Amino acid sequence: MRRRVWLTVLLLFILSSIAWAAPNRVVFLDVGQGDAVLIASNQGGAMLIDAGTRSAGAEVVVPYLLEAGIEALDAVVMTHPHADHIGGLIPVLESIPVSRIYANYDIHTTETYKELLLRIEALEIPFIQAEPGMEIEVGGIDRIIVLHPDYPLTGGINDNSIVLWMEIDGISFLFPGDIETRAEKHLIAEDAYLKAHFIKIPHHGSNTSSTLEFLMAVRPEKAVISCGEGNAYGHPDFEVLLRLAAFGVDVYRTDLHGTITVLIDDGTVDILTHKRAVKLQAP
Ligand SMILES: [Zn+2]
Repeated sequence: MRRRVWLTVLLLFILSSIAWAAPNRVVFLDVGQGDAVLIASNQGGAMLIDAGTRSAGAEVVVPYLLEAGIEALDAVVMTHPHADHIGGLIPVLESIPVSRIYANYDIHTTETYKELLLRIEALEIPFIQAEPGMEIEVGGIDRIIVLHPDYPLTGGINDNSIVLWMEIDGISFLFPGDIETRAEKHLIAEDAYLKAHFIKIPHHGSNTSSTLEFLMAVRPEKAVISCGEGNAYGHPDFEVLLRLAAFGVDVYRTDLHGTITVLIDDGTVDILTHKRAVKLQAP
């Protein structure tokens, strides 16, 4: 009899912990003009792709990670060494243990980049060159594969961005960093598998990216544009919004919606936005 009571208690405990397991999350953090995407699986795996500027890293990314109970990151990908992508990694590394960092080893002689590399070296974090075909292992994520860049690097800093394709629970994502027309054409010519349900629009919605050919290859259903409210670059470009509208893509923007959270649970997708859009999403 006592054994049966214990069995019931154990079953209730297991059932309640299953019911409470957080769904898989892909979070496009509102870091103003920059990029920062957190991927957290329902099995506790966590990866960060870029971390915005240094101030956004300290004021947005680190507080979010701590509040979300992310105590360690299995992988960090720095898509390219511009400050709106890597600056925030400095406060992240000061706050949270990171197991591995993936980079493209591009040369960029800014103080921010130098400081970050010194910090990585001091913390003795494995610093891995991301190559096409390489898989990044994160617990609970079905597949994360590097599509770009090829070596030796030949493009500009944006075009050399690391491009990742990811699948969680049957839902696919393309994270193309800040690539522009040249890298988009290269990926198409290489016959890279680009098709994805979600795309983070390259280079904050600049008109030098998101060509028609590229969007045709990705065929996204949803697009997220990470850009700052009233930014000086005019991102996202009106023509990019027109192209996305022509494809019937649902557009989410961090400048209008704030942080955008995609929840994936058993093949179903929910999209939560931190603030309501105050303007039209697309023309
Ligand atoms: Zn950028």
